[in-house]
Amino acid sequence: MRKFGTALFAAGIAAAAAVGGASGVANAEEKFVTIGTGGQTGVYYQVGGSICRLVNKGAKEHNIKCTHTTGGSVANINGLRAGDLDLGVAQSDWQYHAYNGTAPDKFPDGAFKELRAVFSVHPEPFTVVARTDSGIKTFDDLKGKRVNMGNPGSGARATFEVVMEKMGWTPGDFALAAELKSSEQAAALCDNKIDAIVFTVGHPAGTIKEATTSCDAKLINVDNDVVRKLASENAYYAMATIPGGMYTGSPDVTTTFGVGATFVTSTATSPEVVYEIVKAVFGNFKRFKKMHPAFGNLEEAKMITNNLSAPLHEGAIKYYKEQGWM
Ligand code: GLU
Repeated sequence: MRKFGTALFAAGIAAAAAVGGASGVANAEEKFVTIGTGGQTGVYYQVGGSICRLVNKGAKEHNIKCTHTTGGSVANINGLRAGDLDLGVAQSDWQYHAYNGTAPDKFPDGAFKELRAVFSVHPEPFTVVARTDSGIKTFDDLKGKRVNMGNPGSGARATFEVVMEKMGWTPGDFALAAELKSSEQAAALCDNKIDAIVFTVGHPAGTIKEATTSCDAKLINVDNDVVRKLASENAYYAMATIPGGMYTGSPDVTTTFGVGATFVTSTATSPEVVYEIVKAVFGNFKRFKKMHPAFGNLEEAKMITNNLSAPLHEGAIKYYKEQGWM
């Protein structure tokens, strides 16, 4: 027994030495964190990429190395719960439902009480883009058309499902109910495989730019009793606008409803890691805001209060208190 134990112990040391040697760093405390984001042509991917760039810049001091994945809000929250992700970007509506256990079809394990908020990011209007030749002029016109609902796991898809239910629609009401990832939808629209895209995303978004510059397509208002009721009855929704002229073919302001993008984690992520990540963002805030045009209007005070339904993570609270923000 003893011999066996010693051999295992020795093997452990050898393995540890090999890892240390391979990375070329003598520091055993290196921590790898993974941030769940969204498709490459959305804004979440840029949120994760920007945060990781700022974190990795300071890796010499804190030894945290950051990478990011795709997937979307619901997948990110479930990934946090499963321990596959350390942090993630998620829509305010799905943060609320995950924490409170109010969407069992998306979060089958019930209320995720270990979910923690870090800060909120950019607004995300519920966005509909239609081919000009599709005849779609209003949101109601989507019925009977070929529509991309988005990939399962995305918050955008999940929010469209909520709207569909309130509209009395099912996927069967569309001529085609596609489940394309956001990175595939602009090409599908311009190849005339679908008539419209439905995507809850910050602006300007690469995927919407691609759709509106590669073919004749325009934004459609989503301003009816159904979404007005959703926005007035739920704190995690609000009416929203997309500025006129932001996209080719849509010179006028678009009115719709929307959510807020938020940055979340769980109690399983250490306070030290969350503190360093928050510090990397807010300690380089001017630079962060320039990393994507959707971040241009962000303000610290609003980011630590707006759109957050889970409690703030203790590592974030420590930094916000140090700054005198709480
Ligand atoms: N709001 C979308 C979602 O949760 C992602 C938007 C983006 O990729 O920027 O699926």
